Amino acid sequence: MSRFLETFEKRAARCPERRAFFNSRGGEGSSITFGELSALSDNLAAALAEKAPAGKPVVVYGHKSPLMLVSFLAAVKAGLTYAPVDIAYPADRVSDILAQLDRPLVLSLADGPFVGDAALAGEVWDEAEVRAACAVASEADRSRWIADETPFYLLFTSGSTGRPKGVQMPSRCVDAFMDYFSRLFPSREDGVSFNRVPYTFDVSLFDIIGALPFGYTLFSLESEHEQSMRDTFEALRESGMTAWISTPSFAEMCLADPSFNAQLLPRLDAIILCGEVLRNATALKLLDRFPDATLYNTYGPTETQAVTDIVVDCALATDVNPLPVGYLTSSGGARILDLETGEELGAGQVGEICLFGDTVSAGYYGRPDLTEAAFSVVEEGTGLGQRCYKTGDKGYLDEQGRLFCLGRLDFQVKLNGFRVELADVEQALVRLPEVGEAVVLPVERDGKVSHLAAHVRLADGGEGDRETTRALKAALKQLVPEYMVPKKFVYHDEFALNVNGKIDRKALA
Ligand code: AMP
Repeated sequence: MSRFLETFEKRAARCPERRAFFNSRGGEGSSITFGELSALSDNLAAALAEKAPAGKPVVVYGHKSPLMLVSFLAAVKAGLTYAPVDIAYPADRVSDILAQLDRPLVLSLADGPFVGDAALAGEVWDEAEVRAACAVASEADRSRWIADETPFYLLFTSGSTGRPKGVQMPSRCVDAFMDYFSRLFPSREDGVSFNRVPYTFDVSLFDIIGALPFGYTLFSLESEHEQSMRDTFEALRESGMTAWISTPSFAEMCLADPSFNAQLLPRLDAIILCGEVLRNATALKLLDRFPDATLYNTYGPTETQAVTDIVVDCALATDVNPLPVGYLTSSGGARILDLETGEELGAGQVGEICLFGDTVSAGYYGRPDLTEAAFSVVEEGTGLGQRCYKTGDKGYLDEQGRLFCLGRLDFQVKLNGFRVELADVEQALVRLPEVGEAVVLPVERDGKVSHLAAHVRLADGGEGDRETTRALKAALKQLVPEYMVPKKFVYHDEFALNVNGKIDRKALA
């Protein structure tokens, strides 16, 4: 039985009137209480158990809204895996996901129509149908709840083959993550956490799994309030937030304005950052602006959830550069493997970070080949086999058992916190008839990727101009989310090759 659901239901019974979620839009339909979330998800679960194809994930399409959360809980209460798909995904990508899931049921909860190819879905229930199912009172049936090895959720991330890959997280791992991560959220009856990032990004699960079942209210910022800093700050001021969760990039954006401080968020007692490098200067600024909050740097890919954390104080941020990404915990460990030999390395030696433990995913949906390449089983401590994930991150453990992440060993980058495989963008580019060959490179500023540059050889041998770039960007937006579209385009007659006969990426950079 899912301990996550059990903990959530206990809390819902204890404080049914408390808000479980609200977004900055306010007004009708923008919030939901614990009691409603529990009851509506029971009702929808009954409908899903009856009508959704057994054993197949349920796609939940939309953005931040109470009904999205209801649908996630309903799916797992019906023993089904949910796969969130955000409205930021263009039709082509949504259809690709549907094709991988082999005609799944889709709950379409976006403001606009469902953009995927409906012929690739088993059925599409629109918002009215989902609401109707939520309105039919049904008995909760705990015997159906998701448990153990059944994937609780499926998160699609950028894949180097040009297709998104679905990371499956078993229910057992979600319970382990709840145990581990909940201790970062101070125990309080009136906690409000920042559920900002889209549900397709694992950071959105930090508070859904680690805080909601303990009575935290999730707060999300509507995109209309992210258009200007003034609107963002106004919404933040009114949120009553106590736990900040974001990528360092978003925190840096806010820090650019001096009014981002403890006067704006007087109740803040925890700042949890994840997803990319936390720079020392950013940490010091946050500590200066929010002297009473505890600042955490946390680390872990979607394939493992966050597995390490560390409190960053002024001494650490001043003395240790780069910052460690955390200590290993009882639920997760790391080994550093030699890049050539695969042998385990000792303290201080740099190699590939491999993570193992209770929160390591079951692999990629329908892709045993990709799963086999990245996952294995290690014997550790008790002698029990533990799943291990090769992260593709370069790093080391120091004598104190602190993990340091020094960047990627492959062509995956973080752009404003979004995970992007450069090959994913390249594959999309060469699908455009105008493009002969393409190489996408990250452009860095101050040690972080500031944007992507596409190096293109046009199929007709022509010289690209501004108009070409505009057209290519527009066409690319139909294939990949907007954040993956390169800002700069550079045109080449031909690409220089390296000694292996491959395009010389170094020379291009
Ligand atoms: P994602 O799957 O989107 O969570 O991205 C995971 C990748 O982001 C990791 O493999 C790292 O390359 C990077 N990453 C995550 N957290 C941190 C951190 N605290 N410091 C540096 N890199 C990080």
